[in-house]
Amino acid sequence: MGPDMDGRQPDRRHAAPDIREALAMDIKGFLAEDEALRLYDLAGEACRLGPCLEIGSYCGKATAFLGLACRNAGGRLYSIDHHRGSEEQQPGQEYFDPELFDRARNRIDTLPFLLRTIKILDLTDTVIPLVGRSEEIAAFWKKPLALIFIDGGHSFEAAFADYSGWVSSLLPGGYLLIHDIFPDPSKGGQAPRCVYEMALSSGLFHALPMVNTLGILRRSLCGEIPQTAGDRWDRLAEIA
Ligand code: MG
Repeated sequence: MGPDMDGRQPDRRHAAPDIREALAMDIKGFLAEDEALRLYDLAGEACRLGPCLEIGSYCGKATAFLGLACRNAGGRLYSIDHHRGSEEQQPGQEYFDPELFDRARNRIDTLPFLLRTIKILDLTDTVIPLVGRSEEIAAFWKKPLALIFIDGGHSFEAAFADYSGWVSSLLPGGYLLIHDIFPDPSKGGQAPRCVYEMALSSGLFHALPMVNTLGILRRSLCGEIPQTAGDRWDRLAEIA
């Protein structure tokens, strides 16, 4: 695939056959093609450093691209979801999909759709689905991670829990990716954007160019000063 560190987009015409297959599958989900291709590139790079984690598997649309990258590079992807749908996917809400509703149990169940995606793309030995709430799994998690993709609930409480619960597991040099960042509040909820800005203002991350609504932050290496932290120090030094 194309270059991955300068913000330019990979070209679908040169995509590997398995990527073209995943793009053609029309997996249920909310992920633009340019975002999918960028996830593939970032996971392919990151998984050489350690395992990757997705929060919010849904039906496996992003899982497909993260997972294929990990499989092709010999890495691993953990993918967390309680599979009962987020707030806006419940009956009567804006993103409710009746095909995902299990009438026998009277609830949303996206797990069969995720497992189908994993099986069709031959990701069974690469993707490890974790069924449960992100904060409960985070509470006992010990393994350092090279990439964390936050794409779970869109309330501030959910997005903040996904950030605060997991960020300490991210390796130096690893990626923190946050989906659904809309600068214009009329285009989407602001919780992911707020979490992105909080992470950036921590001084622990470098921002890479966004791709569509995908925010890309790289955890600084030890002793490496990100631009935002340097700017803050310069302002304080001026005042002093
Ligand atoms: Mg999303």
